[in-house]
This record gives sequence, C-alpha cells and structure tokens, in this order.
Amino acid sequence: MTYSYTQISQYLTCPRRYRHRYLDGWQEKDTRAAMGFGRAFERALTAYFLREDAAGVLFREWAAYQNQPLHYSNGDSWDRMLQQGIQLLDRFCQDGRIRIRQPRRNLQIKFSRPLSENNDFVAYIDAIGKVDDTRCLIEWKTTSSRYPEEPDGLLALDPQLVCYSWMTGIPEVAQIVFVRKRLVEVQYLRTTITDEQRQEFGQLVADTIGRIESAQFLPHSGIRFPQNPCSTCPYVGLCLGKQQLVEIDLVRRPGAENLGWLDELTY
Ligand code: SF4
Repeated sequence: MTYSYTQISQYLTCPRRYRHRYLDGWQEKDTRAAMGFGRAFERALTAYFLREDAAGVLFREWAAYQNQPLHYSNGDSWDRMLQQGIQLLDRFCQDGRIRIRQPRRNLQIKFSRPLSENNDFVAYIDAIGKVDDTRCLIEWKTTSSRYPEEPDGLLALDPQLVCYSWMTGIPEVAQIVFVRKRLVEVQYLRTTITDEQRQEFGQLVADTIGRIESAQFLPHSGIRFPQNPCSTCPYVGLCLGKQQLVEIDLVRRPGAENLGWLDELTY
C-alpha cells in the first residue's frame, strides 16, 4: 500500500471520511474554480523557472476551464482570476526572491520512503531552491486571503511542511503564498522544522497506518459548533444518508465497489 500526506491527513480529520474516500471510492466532484486555477498557476510558475512565457501558459491552462461549470466563490470570475494571476506572476518576477537551479530536476520532485515490507510513503514536493539565499523545500499556495503569520512561529506547526521535511530530511521549509485579493500579494513564509518534529511525524504516520490496517473507521463528528468538520465535509450526504447531497457533491470511482482487498488487512 502506498500512503501519502493527503491520506494520513484525511484519516486524522475523520476516519470515516477516509473510509468513504479511499475504501469505498467516493470522490468530491472537481468543480471548485480555485482548484483549477491553482493547477493552472503552478504550471505557469514552472514555465517561469524554465524561462518560458509564464503568462501565456497561465492563459492556456486556465482557458481549459473557461467553459466548464465551475463554482466561483467570493465574487470571482474566470476573467478576474486570470487578471489576478497575471498580476501575481508580475509581482513574483519583480520580487526575484526565489532561485531554482536546474528547474527540470528541482520542480515537482517525487520522494518515496519505504515504511515496512508492504507499505511505502510518497510525496511530491513543489520545489527545492533558495528563498532569499537559504536553501529550502518550497510549497506554492494560491488563496483568496492571506495566510496568518501570528503568533510568531506558527508556520512550524504546518503538518504538510512537517511531513515534507520528514520525507526529505530538509529542515528549512517555505510556503510561497499567492494571494488573490483586490491588491494582489505574495507572502514568503519560512521556518525550520526540528529533528524532534520529524521523528514525531514518523510516529504519527506509523500509528495512523496501524489504525487504518486494523479497520478503525469510527466517525469523528462530535466536535462542537462552530468547529464541526461535518458542516464543510463533502461526505456529509453519505453520513446522513441523503442521496441528493451525495449526487451533488460526489462521484464514485469505477471498480471501487470491490472491497475484497479489505480481507487482506492484518487485524
Ligand atoms: S460528515 Fe462528519 S462524520 Fe461524516 S465523514 Fe465527514 S467529518 Fe466524518
């Protein structure tokens, strides 16, 4: 079995959610404009480091979504997002704070790590390069609002960065956040992940996989208002038995009905 950060994080959010997604094959419909834009923007960043026409790549990649029935939030539109994307690329280029040597090797890098005889863990790191002259593992993020920077040091608790530091052994990590707002902004957030955090994350992964392999999928739905994850969970229709919600939010991957492989699990 190959595990990833997304899988571990889905299980930790709610084990029942993990079961819906990875065992029963239910997937959220890909209709959020922000997701498509994020993918198009990452391709444009790759083009930028390869010294290609980044704005042209952004237009071409984002054009593929233009006639799709996407859900735009916060008054967004296809044109507005394109314009913000181009402004963000301009700002990023003017800042000139990131250097990626050998971009064909150091962008979208696959790391895998054996966990046991039967399991391994895979991560795709957006980039490894220099942020203001410090060599870092880099993650790109696109968002419509700024990432919080207070209290000081908050970024060191980001579980995805801790995971990627554990995977690569690189302590210096950075999130480059492209904020689509009226006046666009690029945040350059950097922190250091400690040895202890990496070790703890390894233990968390082992512990989580142990629970998955012993088929512990009880729902974690009891967190009180307003922090109840069920209210924003795409699988809420399944948990409530409401077919109409299931049809709106989810699709089922063909063949995923076959749960025979569950018998292979070690209890
Ligand atoms: S709706 Fe709630 S209980 Fe059901 S999978 Fe989502 S978070 Fe878990």
